[in-house]
Amino acid sequence: MNLAQRTELYRRLAAVNPNPRSDLQYSNDFELLVAVVLSAQATDVSVNKATARLWPVANTPQAILALGEARLRDYIKTIGLYQTKAKNVIKLCEQLIALHGGRVPNDRKALEALPGVGSKTASVVLNVAFGVPTIAVDTHIFRVANRTGLAPEKTADKVAAKLEKVTPKEYLLNAHHWLILHGRYLCKARSPECWRCSIVEFCKYKPKTPAAGEAPSKPLKGKPVARKTAARKAGKVASKTARKTAAR
Ligand code: SF4
Repeated sequence: MNLAQRTELYRRLAAVNPNPRSDLQYSNDFELLVAVVLSAQATDVSVNKATARLWPVANTPQAILALGEARLRDYIKTIGLYQTKAKNVIKLCEQLIALHGGRVPNDRKALEALPGVGSKTASVVLNVAFGVPTIAVDTHIFRVANRTGLAPEKTADKVAAKLEKVTPKEYLLNAHHWLILHGRYLCKARSPECWRCSIVEFCKYKPKTPAAGEAPSKPLKGKPVARKTAARKAGKVASKTARKTAAR
């Protein structure tokens, strides 16, 4: 994909969603950090359900420590891996107080040194809280980057590095959100909704999903008989009965 196509692709994603936001609910940097830590291998919906109860009770490192690990566990027990996450959040709060005056640091190394915070979480926090133009690659972005041909790579780290290289500068700050939301709501894993996709003409994914009632664009495979059946099912060839009726 050349620069003009990449620029147009992002322009269209931006037109669909001019002010993209994370689906996670938070109102300050600390809530954001903890919500992202809790969202590892869990859905944003499950995290939001838990934090909707947690934030009114404890939304600072001091308040979470006062709550204690057992009660924290109780608030987040509907989230996958909640026991390990509760332990990490408690240690993370202790470190924020001991090393950063209770504030979330605006520094990748310091963030990645916190318990439960890897490079992906650090990238999200740097991007969302501090406006650093960086892209954290999750399962949705990985899929969109590979399907479209924007950054076809085998690992999340490689996709992230490539995306940061090929994304036009003016779109880099929000690219993370545009790609993640596109993957989550439109370019879905099982059935991407290609028929209503704003970037369809730039996308290199071959078997594009047609609108209901339309024939698929992918080439038909198999032996001649199987191909004929598939073609009939796809509406490309009329059935014997339909042909007879049409001839009448
Ligand atoms: S055309 Fe289909 S596969 Fe390509 S980005 Fe759009 S939804 Fe995804």
